[in-house]
Amino acid sequence: MVRYSSPQVSHVRVRFPPSPTGIPHLGNTRTALFNFLFARHNNGKFILRIEDTDRSRLVKGAEDKIKEILNWLDLSWDEFYRQSERLPLYKEKANELIKKGVARKDEGAVRFIIPKGKKISWEDAIGNKKISFKSDDIEDFIILKSDGYPTYHLASVVDDSDMKISHVIRGDEWISSTPKHILLYEALGWQHPIFAHLPVILGPDHTKLSKRHGAESVLDLRDKGFLKEAIINFMALLGWNPGGDREIMGISEMIKLFDLQDINTGSPIFDIKKLEWMNGEYIRKTQNSKLKSQILEFDPKIAQIEKFEQYIPLAKTRMKTLADFRVLVENQKDASLNERQKKLAQELVNAYRKLPEWKSALISTATIGVRDQIGASTQDVYAVLTGRPQGLPFEQKLEIQGQAGTISWLEGVLKR
Ligand code: GLU
Repeated sequence: MVRYSSPQVSHVRVRFPPSPTGIPHLGNTRTALFNFLFARHNNGKFILRIEDTDRSRLVKGAEDKIKEILNWLDLSWDEFYRQSERLPLYKEKANELIKKGVARKDEGAVRFIIPKGKKISWEDAIGNKKISFKSDDIEDFIILKSDGYPTYHLASVVDDSDMKISHVIRGDEWISSTPKHILLYEALGWQHPIFAHLPVILGPDHTKLSKRHGAESVLDLRDKGFLKEAIINFMALLGWNPGGDREIMGISEMIKLFDLQDINTGSPIFDIKKLEWMNGEYIRKTQNSKLKSQILEFDPKIAQIEKFEQYIPLAKTRMKTLADFRVLVENQKDASLNERQKKLAQELVNAYRKLPEWKSALISTATIGVRDQIGASTQDVYAVLTGRPQGLPFEQKLEIQGQAGTISWLEGVLKR
């Protein structure tokens, strides 16, 4: 069996070639990640190529978003190309195909002529399976449009050859394009690269991944408070199984282990709950000082919350996303209280004033004593102390909040 990757191979060159037609969705970014991991594992090159030849579908700002995602995730590329800057090369190859008699010029456009009665097949590196097509099932297709721009098929083949791409790792929605590409390689007298088609990611309901499954792009996830380390780890496991039940892995470990042989042939399922769990694990692993900068970067106004830094070690035990920090730490000011809860607030003020020392054990005993004495519930305690139905262990939170701060909060509650 052919091993498609081994650490000794140094000629590995792979590409991530998005079309700038919008913000790349999660599946697209996973493709970028797999190419990146494969390149780094093999000491090869990771190439970013903007495929902007379909002028009618260009979206302004899309190229910047593509770069923003890769930069934020630290998936740095070694070479950069933009297809619109390489038009003469595609034209030259289209002319060459016309001269060879395998392409014809129709009304301004150039079409590739599919040979009859041919079987086209390749050994796909995902699952090492042979995939075959009959040329008779494929129609002649346009390679150069009348506006002088190549179509995806020609540009992709010419560039993959010109850029000496060794492995084409892409989503399996491109499988039906591959026989066309192979015919183009043959017609141009080139060897084709190794193809690896990644099974498409599905939502938990086994339908195509979409926004209603919790995320459309990595930028959405960033805006929801997910850490890039967790997103990378999670995306890597969408289809890649490094063996064993290992789940939490840093990027260098992933690079060390990554192998196309370990990509599953079945569709991976995107489960936002799993990402939330993983993100929580990453938050707990993060040093407090680093977490502080991540929280502030995510929401600079957190700095206005009194003593916010002191809450970090406590809050991180409960956080799933960076967005949770505010909910856990900041009291809700406009919650209204019922009569029993107001009584509880009044009695807590009295009890807290008498405490000789402001320590969580004493706060806890005093609070529970008052709660039971007036027949209130724990939910009432949270409602009164934080304005929310639940939260951080209240006695630890109050210790940080301080005696004066807590009493003045309760006095505010009683004035409502
Ligand atoms: N431009 C194509 C895309 O948007 C590239 C597909 C390929 O990898 O060949 O994904």
